Amino acid sequence: MTRTSPQHAPMTQYRTEDNCLVIGDMPLDILAHRIGQTPFYAYDRNLISQRISTLRNKLPDQLHIHYAMKANPMPAVVQHLAGIVDGFDLASHQEMLVALDTTMSTDQISMAGPGKRPQELAAAIAAGITVNAESFNEIEQLAIQSDRVGLPANVAVRINPAFELKSSGMKMGGGPKQFGIDEESVPDALRTIKQLGLNFIGFHIYSGSQNLNAASIAETQSQAVDLAIRLQVDCPEPITKLNIGGGFGIPYFPGEKPLDLDQVGESMATLCERVSAELGKTNLIIELGRYIVGEAGIYVCKIVDRKLSRGQVFLVTDGGLNHHLAASGNFGQIIRKNYPVTIGNKISADQLETASVVGPLCTPLDLLADKMQLPVADIGDLVVVFQSGAYGLTASPGLFLSQPEAVEVLV
Ligand SMILES: *Cc1c(COP(=O)(O)O)cnc(C)c1O
Repeated sequence: MTRTSPQHAPMTQYRTEDNCLVIGDMPLDILAHRIGQTPFYAYDRNLISQRISTLRNKLPDQLHIHYAMKANPMPAVVQHLAGIVDGFDLASHQEMLVALDTTMSTDQISMAGPGKRPQELAAAIAAGITVNAESFNEIEQLAIQSDRVGLPANVAVRINPAFELKSSGMKMGGGPKQFGIDEESVPDALRTIKQLGLNFIGFHIYSGSQNLNAASIAETQSQAVDLAIRLQVDCPEPITKLNIGGGFGIPYFPGEKPLDLDQVGESMATLCERVSAELGKTNLIIELGRYIVGEAGIYVCKIVDRKLSRGQVFLVTDGGLNHHLAASGNFGQIIRKNYPVTIGNKISADQLETASVVGPLCTPLDLLADKMQLPVADIGDLVVVFQSGAYGLTASPGLFLSQPEAVEVLV
C-alpha cells in the first residue's frame, strides 16, 4: 500500500505565460530585468485588493477590517491598503510615521506592543491615534506624556485573556504573557484610566497568529466578545472600539488547507449581532496582517551555482535566510518544513528532479527548500518562494553575513 505524501496547496493566485510565472501582469523574467537585481520581493497590488474584496463579501458589513502593519510595512503596500481597509494597527514609531504618510484617518489608527517608550507614547498622543496600553506603567506614562504634549491621550486596554487561541501557530494570550494586562487586573486598570482622566476608547484582545481552523477562530472571537461584555460595567465610558485581533492563517506547508472563510463569516455575523445587542454602538474590529498580504507576495532569488554532493542536487542562490528567515524554517517553526517553492521561469517544465535550494551564507540553516521536487534548473534561473507577502524582509536578519540587500516592489 502506498500513501501519497501531503502536497502544498496549489498557488492558483498567479497565472503563467510561456512557462513563466506572472505577477502584477509582469512575466517574472521581465520583472527581474526591470528591477535590475535579484533577490527581490514582489507584491501584487491586485491580489491584495482582491483579498480585501473577498473579506468584505464574506464577513458582515458592520465589521471593521484593519491592517496589522508589521506583517508588511512597505510604504507602497501600506499606501495601497489605506484606500481599501478601515484602519491600521501598528507597533512602533516608525510604522506610525509610514501610516501617517497615507490618507488613513488618525482616529482609525492604533498602536500596540509591549515596551512603548515615553517618546513613542508622546508621538502617538500628538498624532491623535489610539494607544493600546499593555501595562499599568504605560497607563501612567500616557498621563504624563499627555500633560507634556498638551493633548488628551486615547487609550484602549489590551487584555491578556485567561483563554488561549487553539490551533494557532504563535500564542499571544493566555497564561503569563508580556502582552496586555491580565484579565483579572483590567477593572483596576480601568479605574486608573478614569482617575487620570484619559480618553477611554475600548478593548484590544489579540490571542494568536496563523490559525487555519475556522471553528477555533469562532470560539476565540466569541470568548473575546464575552469578556468585553463582562467588563462593560467597569468601563469609565462606553466601549467605542472592540478589537478582537486577527490571526487568520494561510496555507504554507504540505497538507495545510486554506481557511474556510465562509464559516468564519457565518460565526462573525452572529457575533456582530451580539455586539450590537449587548454593547450598543461599539465598533467591532478585526486586525489582519498575514491573511491580507501573505499570499500576494513572492520572494525571488537567482541560481548562481548548481552542484552535486554525494548524489544530492544543490541549487545555490544569491538569496536566503538573511532576506527570508521564515522560509528557512527559523521563524517560529518547531520542525522545518518547506514553503511552496518553484523555478519561476521554468514553471511547467516536464522534467522534475529532487533538489535543495540553499543560500550563500556559511551556515546549514541557510536552506530555502530541502529535497523538493522542482523543475530541473540551472545557473541563472529564478527561484520563487510563494506565500512571502507577510513576515518576509522585515522579519529577517538582513545584516547577517553582510550580503547585498533584497529590494521590494509593488506591482
Ligand atoms: C502581529 C499582530 C497582528 C497580525 O497578526 P496576523 O497573524 O498577521 O494576522 C494583529 N494584531 C497584533 C496586536 C499583532 O501584534
